[in-house]
Amino acid sequence: MTDRFGRIIDQLRISVTDRCNLRCRYCMPASGVKLLRNTDILSFEEILDVARAAVGMGITKIRLTGGEPLVRRGVVHLVEKLASIDGLVDLAMTTNGTLLAEHARSVADAGLQRVNISLDTTDPHLYRQMTRCGDIRAVLAGIRAAQAARLHPIKLNCVVGGLLAGSDALSVKEFGRTNGLQVRIIRMMHFERGVFSVVEGGRGGDCRRCNRLRLSSDGSIRPCLFSDVFLSVRRLGPSKSIRLAVAKKPQAGGPCAHQWMYRIGG
Ligand code: SAM
Ligand code: SF4
Repeated sequence: MTDRFGRIIDQLRISVTDRCNLRCRYCMPASGVKLLRNTDILSFEEILDVARAAVGMGITKIRLTGGEPLVRRGVVHLVEKLASIDGLVDLAMTTNGTLLAEHARSVADAGLQRVNISLDTTDPHLYRQMTRCGDIRAVLAGIRAAQAARLHPIKLNCVVGGLLAGSDALSVKEFGRTNGLQVRIIRMMHFERGVFSVVEGGRGGDCRRCNRLRLSSDGSIRPCLFSDVFLSVRRLGPSKSIRLAVAKKPQAGGPCAHQWMYRIGG
C-alpha cells in the first residue's frame, strides 16, 4: 500500500492488551490507569481477521506490542496463527522482557522471529523507580532466555529523558555492545505537545520514512501515533478501516489528545 505522500505502508503494530505488569512513569499516569473492559478488547479471532486482511493488502511485517503482550493469556497461540499467514515475512514483538524467561522458548517455537526489549538503565534502583515496581533481574533473565531461544536480532529500546539521563543510555549501550545486542535510543515523547524525535538506531520518529499502521487493543486502526484519527475495525470491518487509515495518514504527526502509550501500543 502506498499513501498520499508516496510512503510504502508495510508494517502493522498490533497492541494485544492494555494490561501491563509494570507502571513506567512515561507510559502510565501516576493516578492509575482505567483499563478497558474485556468485551472491548479484540479477541484473537478478530485480531487474526485484521492481520489476514492487512497482509492481503500489502502488509509484510507485524509487531506485537501492548501494554505488555506477554501478559495476555494465550499469546503464544496468537503468535503461531500469525506466523502461519501466507505473505507475512517478519513477525516481531516489543516487550518489557520481564516474562521472557518463562515464554521466550514457546514464542520462538511458535514462529516469533525477533524481539525488542525495553531497558532504559542498567541501574537496578533507577529501573525500579522508573517502572514503579520492576525488578531488573527479571529483564536480564529475559534477555538471556531470548538469546538462548535464538530470537534474532534482539534490540534494546532505551528511553532517554526525565530521570533517565544520557549516562543511563550509555550504560545500556555498553551492555548492548558486550552482549551483542543492538540499542535504539528513544527520546521521551510528549503526546499533548506533539513532541517526538527520530529514534537513534531505528526507523521511528521520522515521518518521511513512516511505514506503519497501528491496531489498538480495542480495535482501532490508527494511521499515526501522533494523531487522534482512528478507524474502528468492529464498525467498518478490517479492509475498509485499513484502507481509510492509509488514506488518512498525515504527512507528519502533531499534538494529540491521547497521552499514554499503554493505551495505543508503542
Ligand atoms: N510493554 C512493552 C514494552 O515496554 O516494551 C511494549 C509496550 S511499550 C508501550 C512500547 C515502547 O514504548 C517501550 O519501548 C516504551 O519504552 C516506549 N514508550 C512508552 N511511553 C513512551 C514515551 N512517553 N516516550 C517514549 N517511549 C515510550
Ligand atoms: Fe508497561 Fe511497556 Fe508501558 Fe512500561 S512501557 S508501563 S512495560 S506498556
